Amino acid sequence: MDLSRTLAGAGAALLATALLANPVSAAPGGIPASTTPGNNLVSAARGSDPLSAARGSDPDSGAPGDNPSTRDFGNGPERNTIAALGGSAVDSAALGASSAGPLFAEEPASAWTITRRKGYPRQNDLPVWPVNPEDRSIKLGLVPYHLIAPKLNALQEASDRVSAEIVGHSAGGRDLYLVTVTAPESAAEAARQDRWRELIEEDPAAAKRDRALRTGYKTPVWINANIHGNEWEGTDGALRVIERLATATDPATRDLLERTRVYVTVTNNPDGRIAGTRANGAGFDINRDHATGSQPESRAVRDVVIATQPFVMLDEHGYTGTTLIEPATPPHGQNYEYDLYIKHALPNALGMEKAIQRLGHPETTRADIPFRDYAPGDWDDWPPIFTPMYAIYQGAVGHTVEIPLQVNNSAYNDLPVEELQRRSRINTDVAAATIEAALTYADTNRGTLLADQIELFRRGWAGEPSPVIPDGFVDGFGPEDRYATTFPRAYVIPAGSPAAARLVNHLIANDVRVTAARTAFRAGGRHYGKGTYIVDMHQPKRGLANVLLEAGRDISGLVPQMYDISGWSHGLLWGATVDSSLRSLPRVLVIKVTEAAATGSVDAPRGRDLSLSLRDGNDVRAVNELLTRGVKLRRTDAATVVVPAEARPEAVSLARSLGVRFTAAPGRTRGDVIEQPVIAAAVSADELFALKEMGFTVRPVSTAILNAGFDLSTVDSLIVSSGLSYANLTATARAAVDAYLARGGGVLTRGATGANFNAAAEVLPVTATAGRGDANGVVTVTNEGRIVGSGSPVHSFIYSPLWFTGEGVTVEQRYGTSPLVAGHWLPTDEGTDGPAQAAGRAAVVSGTTSGGGHAVLFGTEPLFRAHPKGLYAEYARALFWTAS
Ligand SMILES: [Zn+2]
Repeated sequence: MDLSRTLAGAGAALLATALLANPVSAAPGGIPASTTPGNNLVSAARGSDPLSAARGSDPDSGAPGDNPSTRDFGNGPERNTIAALGGSAVDSAALGASSAGPLFAEEPASAWTITRRKGYPRQNDLPVWPVNPEDRSIKLGLVPYHLIAPKLNALQEASDRVSAEIVGHSAGGRDLYLVTVTAPESAAEAARQDRWRELIEEDPAAAKRDRALRTGYKTPVWINANIHGNEWEGTDGALRVIERLATATDPATRDLLERTRVYVTVTNNPDGRIAGTRANGAGFDINRDHATGSQPESRAVRDVVIATQPFVMLDEHGYTGTTLIEPATPPHGQNYEYDLYIKHALPNALGMEKAIQRLGHPETTRADIPFRDYAPGDWDDWPPIFTPMYAIYQGAVGHTVEIPLQVNNSAYNDLPVEELQRRSRINTDVAAATIEAALTYADTNRGTLLADQIELFRRGWAGEPSPVIPDGFVDGFGPEDRYATTFPRAYVIPAGSPAAARLVNHLIANDVRVTAARTAFRAGGRHYGKGTYIVDMHQPKRGLANVLLEAGRDISGLVPQMYDISGWSHGLLWGATVDSSLRSLPRVLVIKVTEAAATGSVDAPRGRDLSLSLRDGNDVRAVNELLTRGVKLRRTDAATVVVPAEARPEAVSLARSLGVRFTAAPGRTRGDVIEQPVIAAAVSADELFALKEMGFTVRPVSTAILNAGFDLSTVDSLIVSSGLSYANLTATARAAVDAYLARGGGVLTRGATGANFNAAAEVLPVTATAGRGDANGVVTVTNEGRIVGSGSPVHSFIYSPLWFTGEGVTVEQRYGTSPLVAGHWLPTDEGTDGPAQAAGRAAVVSGTTSGGGHAVLFGTEPLFRAHPKGLYAEYARALFWTAS
């Protein structure tokens, strides 16, 4: 979480209300490319008079103590305004490596885990990266990435308390380091720690009884630093702590390390650290990716948190003006065992606050603790997309820590070097102080932290209802903090589709336990085949299982605004059928699943043409692979591709690698020949990533690229959703776009930028209306058209939704009659722009342009952050059609 906006306090809240009251223009060309007034802003402090809380100051001023925390719009404006280019070395390496990644191949259950049969230290000579004088850390006087490995190598040399290893690679291919600091352990001692860790999760009752475990289990603490690349000093503060722990000779430190394992992922985002960007090399915000795991950086720390099972974790961020330390405001994730969390999170935060006060800097006289200081909705812990929130579901007491003084973005460029370095020194002090304080808290409270992690897993195995937490449970806990859910007894996922296999492998990678039925069975009046997956919700990490699989909840009425997404659902958006059994576990013998069964097949006699139905991103990928291999494909309708009998070997190979199913094509099928489409794409980084996942080759474009004379003459389809403004094109570039449209070139748009392009370039004769800019979540849709609407899921995802009105187009998809299933979508004060206004309206339309080309306009978000895997195929069908 970081802050580029400076509006804050209740003054900002009032401003937000004013902005929201001003309906976003429905006029063509008038939709702001990024609209989220309500979400940029922190409103009144919790429990305080909104007006007295108005303190709209500038973090740049660095004024002591009274800089209110500010925050940015989770769905960053750049998503609609800056087209992803994907052309840099980092990008292509990243995307090349990731495109065969976890989503379309089998996701490995765990890429990294704790080494067995080895004691501590387990030292590795880390490869040293070439000196990079361009590293943005240097100007701040901080450690550049290329000096981290030498430093860790030297610390390993100097101290038998330090072990360093590589736990993964960034999107740009750089090493991700994990440092473990602990007193030396023999192999037998380390193995005993491993067994105890497993016992806590697997048999909490036995762990509770085990006296040796209670006294001998080393408290695991995990520090994650620099997940946002331009929030640097978590790394430097963590390195300072590592160095102190490695070299201190005092008995207290020695004893602490006898009782504690300190795990540090030193920089979770080396690409961003070097480049001075929030995102990784693929343009993703890793601290929004934890439910999805699309990026190697989030998968690496997922593996770390599962393998180390920390009691406490910190995610070090910046810059909030005033240091900010979670726990967060409501809404609290409804799947947490929140009592077990808050009883530690609040006192740990208070201890960290004291620690920064002791630093004595005028800038560190207090911290903002959202749970204590902010209004509901201002800094919530609702979605599991943030590292600490995800870690809570893995058994940790997780905290976001925001160090105070801005040194990134405008400050980086505008402030004198001395001032930047002064700020970075204070920020480093704050990061180190919070880490030290958390270590002290974890050590001091190791007995109760252990008991509470055991209790968390015990409740899961027992399937107990979450307890009702009384008011005053901790200071300030009130009715607004009370969130709970009723866990279903089981989820049932029919096997056989690539979507089901993807979902099951994702669950397993997240340490959710999945079984498979050994025979066919009936449950809830339905028949399920042998091999059907069953997620028995009596399991240690039931909260995580549920937060991924449940539909979610419409929380619009609970808080006025949210920080980031409020809805997601692997159950509804990943393309697999996911049934829930509320009360009973299906009565069938099961086996544990460690990897989903292969799904692909070629079900057709030899010599017969094959048919492939475009229902999943993997089906799309198969088509693109076949086209790349020069196979002559035909299309009988927007969703059905015919593969000639001669290409059977290629089909067999793709069925195996992608899990897709080819069937016999009806005899003598004709249809239109499909060529590999030439696609020009002005899209956001997440969309570019998803397009590559599906195997599309795209040529990134933008306003600037078209103005520079990009040749549209061979392009079949132009995608517009980010960074392309018709109004800002030169006369020449405009003429090129006009000529493209006049010759029947295809167009696919998404979102406000796309709708504005549609209006300005007169692509389809419809008007787009914008829902509230910060509206987001899972919606119901009805499918009507034969392209996007053909066999699509009945749910979709929205963020800043649009709907379309006009004549002469086909409605592919409409919003349902009461569209919002889960998420946050309020109307304006005037009662406009809400879900009631969107109900029944066209969410996606298709049509023919005046030049005879095909165009599709999306008001939904089928590729958002590479999350809604089940929506990829509908987007791809539209893309193929616009290119035809
Ligand atoms: Zn951040």
